[in-house]
Amino acid sequence: MADFEDDWIEESPADFAPAYQPNAAGAAPPTRQYRGRTFRGSNRNSSNDANWRERGNTSNSNSSGSGDYRRNYDGAGGRRDYQRDSGNKKVIYVPSNKVGRIIGKGGTKIKDLQYESDARIKVGDSNGNETDVTLTGTDDAISKAQQMIEKLVEDFKPHEKEGHDNKEDSGTRSKEFFKLNENGDQVIDWDKLNAYHNQVQQSRYEKLPPIIKDFYKEDPAVAAMSDEEVKRWRLENFDIQVKRTFDDKPGLRKIPNPVLTFEQAFQHYPDILTEIYKQDFTTPSPIQSQAWPILLSGEDMIGIAQTGTGKTLAFLLPALIHIDGQTVPKEEREGPTVLILAPTRELAIQIDKEVSKYQYKGIKSVCLYGGGDRREQIKVVSKGVDIVIATPGRLNDLVLARHLNIINFSYIVLDEADRMLDMGFEPQIRKSLFDVRPDRQTVMTSATWPPGVRRLAESYMKDPIQVNVGSLDLAAVHTVTQKILFVEEDDKEPALFDFLNNMDPNDKVIIFCGKKATAVHISTELCIKGIDCQSLHGDRDQTDREAALNDMVDGSVNILVATDVASRGIDIKDLTHVINLDFPRHIEEYVHRVGRTGRAGKTGISLTFVTRQDWGSAKELIKILEEANQEVPDELHQMASRFEAMKLRREKEKGEGSGRGRGGRGGGGSYGRGRRDRW
Ligand code: AMP
Repeated sequence: MADFEDDWIEESPADFAPAYQPNAAGAAPPTRQYRGRTFRGSNRNSSNDANWRERGNTSNSNSSGSGDYRRNYDGAGGRRDYQRDSGNKKVIYVPSNKVGRIIGKGGTKIKDLQYESDARIKVGDSNGNETDVTLTGTDDAISKAQQMIEKLVEDFKPHEKEGHDNKEDSGTRSKEFFKLNENGDQVIDWDKLNAYHNQVQQSRYEKLPPIIKDFYKEDPAVAAMSDEEVKRWRLENFDIQVKRTFDDKPGLRKIPNPVLTFEQAFQHYPDILTEIYKQDFTTPSPIQSQAWPILLSGEDMIGIAQTGTGKTLAFLLPALIHIDGQTVPKEEREGPTVLILAPTRELAIQIDKEVSKYQYKGIKSVCLYGGGDRREQIKVVSKGVDIVIATPGRLNDLVLARHLNIINFSYIVLDEADRMLDMGFEPQIRKSLFDVRPDRQTVMTSATWPPGVRRLAESYMKDPIQVNVGSLDLAAVHTVTQKILFVEEDDKEPALFDFLNNMDPNDKVIIFCGKKATAVHISTELCIKGIDCQSLHGDRDQTDREAALNDMVDGSVNILVATDVASRGIDIKDLTHVINLDFPRHIEEYVHRVGRTGRAGKTGISLTFVTRQDWGSAKELIKILEEANQEVPDELHQMASRFEAMKLRREKEKGEGSGRGRGGRGGGGSYGRGRRDRW
């Protein structure tokens, strides 16, 4: 199993530092107090040594150039002597217990600081409570590095009292959060700690300006739609379902009627209309018709919809209006306003491309994903952006490293939430949202509605309205002829090559494999046979993956060998065939794969190889084929019956065997591949 595509996930949830450091609220003042003493501000280098002496530290030999610096840490390896440093030099002092924040995990933070400030930063020795940090470079570089370090070591101090010793204070405070359990052991008093945390958070949020959320002025024609008309419109538009996800409590607003034109949604935002007109769209897609009134009214929304439905624009245009409509101008806001979280780099990049098509009031965005140039991403973030599109891992990385301030996120999108959960990102999503102000507006999209997504919605959304556009991919499946081919494992490859040899030159094909190794093997075989192809799987680096997609999109190649990395969200126009060389592990993945073709009014063909090992999926596959009016081979029915019979037999055996103790043959084994579970 180790080779399954799960292990392509670029940012393992376990990769994060265990402790979360909340960002300090408010801008960093130029001078900070530490234990009642002044942490020097932006004095120039000429005063550095005086500064050092002023502070009465007599051990300056360590930083004067004659000491042994091998223990000193710097981003470049820490072996250079001060004397050899060019430019100016300044020594600042930081609390020793905060030095870790400057160095960062594996030295990443100090490297970032050096890169961003252009100063060389060297962490010296600690004299107990304080540690000296030497900054070398131009005046500007030193000043920038100093500011960044000050901000980094700044603490959030909600109850700071004049002249209080913070260290002792925190020492005393921390004692409050322990209690004795029934055995007399000291344990953490979580209730108290959580209450304290909530109080701290609350006082942070109270300082923030209120969020303006309601930007919707309903067009008279929309307001005049009768309930019957609304019902009919929804039915005619893929039977779109709209409801409050949880209790429809009294006091909640009526769910708005759909808009039927772009003007009905955005007539008060002419610049947005201009951008839409540039795209040559004729009408809003069903999800847009329903989502725009909901989101422009400031409601939370769950869109059960997939890529290809126009969902990105559904949440994006209200986001642009939201950014521009806040009381504090965007240039003066600390940190970005909109966060769009996506499960994969490909999807993040795709969203970014979509976002960059719409210019509105100088709104800037950045795309943060693992595998992309981290420094470049940091550079863009530090210049100030309004929209962050990110994969959860890279987002948390930059938040923890304090490159990104999330305090002002007031419009959050969790795109393809089900996929994020499938990929194990739940802890990171929770971490990302932990510190975001709770009065934000939250949007979630998901192709399915499993319990995990529901739980996420319950925890992080407020009375969301759910718009279910059904599975458009399922609708797409209606435009796909779904063929099933029963084979033995060893016959797959010859059957595949037979198909490829008979392809029309205009055909465009994705071959889905269950394992990365299979994808590598098949693409290698194709190369050996002189057949041009591309491959897309987790072992390929980001640039190669992007190149592979681009080659397919622009038609440089017409065969893509892929794992399920490509099964959702990837929009390759004119794809004529999907080949499922290996049957997917989950039936939903089948729907997504098949839905890569038959898009945008075109028809497509899917060819699925089914082996006896896939019998556990036969029943669900039949349902999908029947729903799409496809031919269901008898063999598939037989497979499904055999599987059900086997399941019953096993249940019975289990019941009988429960009184017998251990031993006997077989025991355990999975339904799909057990020795006795023959097909
Ligand atoms: P999405 O579902 O967001 O991935 O969108 C899929 C594609 O549909 C994108 O290329 C969009 O530019 C396009 N699109 C979005 N809205 C519309 C619309 N109203 N009419 C036609 N195409 C659209």
